[in-house]
Formats: sequence, structure tokens, C-alpha cells
Amino acid sequence: MDMTRVIGPARLLGEVEGPMPELTRAAYQELVAAVGLRGRGGAGFPVSVKLADLPADGSSAVVVNGSESEPISRKDRLLMTMAPHLVLDGAIGIAKALRAPLVIVSVHDPAAAAAMRAAATSRSAAARSAAARSAAARSAAARSTEARLDIRVDESPGRFVAGEARAVLRGLEGGKAVPPGRRTLPSRKGYQGRPTFLSNVETFAQIAVLARLGAREYARTGLAAEPGTQLLTIAGDVERPGVIEVPTGVPLDTILAASGAATGSTTLLGGYHGIWLPRTEGVLLSRTVKEIPLGAGIVLALGPDTCPLGEVHRVAQWLADQSAKQCGPCVFGLGAIVDDFGRLLAGDPNGWHDARRHLGLVDGRGACAHPDGAARFLASALDAFGDDVRDHLGTGCGRPVRGVLPVRGVLPLGGGQQLRNRPVTAYGASLGGSR
Ligand code: SF4
Repeated sequence: MDMTRVIGPARLLGEVEGPMPELTRAAYQELVAAVGLRGRGGAGFPVSVKLADLPADGSSAVVVNGSESEPISRKDRLLMTMAPHLVLDGAIGIAKALRAPLVIVSVHDPAAAAAMRAAATSRSAAARSAAARSAAARSAAARSTEARLDIRVDESPGRFVAGEARAVLRGLEGGKAVPPGRRTLPSRKGYQGRPTFLSNVETFAQIAVLARLGAREYARTGLAAEPGTQLLTIAGDVERPGVIEVPTGVPLDTILAASGAATGSTTLLGGYHGIWLPRTEGVLLSRTVKEIPLGAGIVLALGPDTCPLGEVHRVAQWLADQSAKQCGPCVFGLGAIVDDFGRLLAGDPNGWHDARRHLGLVDGRGACAHPDGAARFLASALDAFGDDVRDHLGTGCGRPVRGVLPVRGVLPLGGGQQLRNRPVTAYGASLGGSR
């Protein structure tokens, strides 16, 4: 199984050599602004804005969000298991620049947690012995700062919404890992109510690469507006699934061809809060293109020998089940939409009509972006699979639901659909993953 591949320079999945420089907050601010670095967890928020939003006296904690609760994504756990020190380089560098005494890595995959824990232990031990050895050296102050830094690894629950930034913070504080009612930025009110710099695993690895290379060298690949590389998880009906590092702005068709996507497949971009693309020509993979939500960097090809609406219906059930069930759009809206899709699959035209109507009602009304993202995913399915909608409203599409779209756990199928041909296979199993 070809798990990792690279097109262009290998930065995260290869070796960027050299010591990690000691940079000030202003230097980090300048670097991330110069290359327009955006968070790699899903929202694509500019890192420079996040840094600038913190108070002048810094941050009380740096949180590495390694929850990766999107079932298709594999890139963050791969980074944490293959390159845990690169992730820590970025987190420790930012913590020192912000004078934060604490770094917390939040992760739910046991193998990734073990790798991060081992790396954190060795870093703390190395920093303590370096500080003890070089008390008189010029860099003693900086080294002792790292020696005092507390690095913790915390295992989080794997539910979909538990990966949302505020849900992560609540979980770290001992509460239920669900988003709180109010939308507050962690940079204002984060871990234990104090300003916190929180970002995704890949973002910290990118920061470490950027600090080592400098803005000019970092920008030698990728788009001018968003230079550098990015990690993508490739899944579904492809000959070569896995994680790939590519320059930003790479054409989607290049990725699909390099991965051996099945002929006649339809592409899902950005995972279960992303969109189905009826056409892929001219689509460039970049977080600067608003209309194409790249999210956590997921590209999934769905081949023509499965019922796409049945696949989407299974995911809709899972998404409804994954909500924190505390806001109306999730409690009532997503449940109703699951029912609508079930009726549509069974050939009821009112199922299609009601799905359209309900999808328009949930947008922007929850305490987090879960219902909005789910609605985007489901609405784009109705658009991209218009021929299949027509077939289901006629005599049915005649295809089985193969379970190409992974969900955690097995859900009962509705709308008269049955799994045939082969059992549901989670993507983790095909990668030899630990889920
Ligand atoms: S919108 Fe849904 S997932 Fe988000 S907090 Fe409310 S109930 Fe939970």
C-alpha cells in the first residue's frame, strides 16, 4: 500500500534539515503574514490574524489540535506518528515566542498519542539536561525557557464535533467535548478562560518548516497568494489511497490521475463538510478559493458502481448522530433531512422537495458550523447526483450501497437500501490504520 507520496518538494513528509531558530512573536507574525499561512484543520483561518488577536502579554497556552475527527482524514495522525518532533518544533517555537508556559497536544488516535507522548518526553528531558549543562552559555535563558515548558498530551474523544476548537478546549478542561453555546475565539477566551493559541497539527508543522526555511525559500513552490505545500488525504475508489504532499494550487485533475481514480467517479472535496464536484476541470486546490472548500485537505473519488445517494444517506445519518444534540438545527433539522433523504431513496418526490426545503433552514443557526457544513455536503449531493435523483424517483438506480464513504460504526440503512456485494469497509482498514 502506497501510504505517502509527494509531488514537488517534500517538506512535511521529507526532511527539512537544520536547527529550529529562536524567533520572536514579531518575527513569527511577519513570516506567517508573508506567506499567507492558513490553518490546515478545516476553517482555513489566517494564522497571522490569530497571532495578532492575542494580547500583548502573549498566551497562557498553546494547543495543538490533533483530534482529526473527520473519518476520511489521515494526514494529521500520519504527521504525528511520522514526524512528531516537527509538530512539536512549531508548537514549542510559538509557545516560547508567546511566553506560554504550557503546550497541550489533543489527540484521539492511540498510536499518534503514543508517538507524541514519546517525543514530548524526550524533548522535555533534552531541554532540562541542556539547561543544566549550559547555565553559563549565551543561550541559557532560551534553553531554560524550554526546560520550564510543560508539554502534555491529552487523549480526546473521537466524535465529529469533538474536534471543533472550542469543543477541544472544553474537553481539555474536563468538560464534555462539545462546542459551547457562544462563539468565542480561543485567542480571546481559551484554555481555562485565558487567551490561547490553538491550531491544527499540520499548521504547527508548517510553522516549523517556515521558521527553518524563511519566507523566500518557503515560497519557492505553490501559489503566489498562498505559497508552500499542503497535505491531502486521498480516499475512495482510487488505486493509490493515502496521504500526499503537494504544492498549493495543484490541479485537482492531476491529483485524481496520480491516485488512479476510477473512471466515471464523482469527487468529494473537503470531507463531510465539503462539497461534491460534478466537474473537476480547472479546479485548483487552495484554501484561498472560497467556492471550493478544501477543509482538512480531503479528496475522495466515488466510483460509478455504488448508489451515491445511498452512500450520502448513510453519512447523513452519521452526521446527525454525531451532533452534540443541543441546538435546534441539529436536533430537528438534521434528523428531518435524514428522513427526507430516506424517502427520496424510496422514490417519494416529496422526500426530494422536503430535503431541499429543510437544507435551507439549518444554515447559520447552530452554535457551531456542524449543521452548516452538513447541509453544504448534502445540498451539493443533490446537485451533483441529479441523474440519480431522477432514477430514484423512477424505478430506482439498481446499484448497491457499497459503503465507500466511511463512517465510524455501522448504521442501519433506510429508504429500502441494503448493503450488497461487500461489507462496509472503513478507510482506516484499507490503510492498515488503527481505527
Ligand atoms: S450546532 Fe449542532 S453540533 Fe454544533 S453545538 Fe449545536 S447541537 Fe452541537
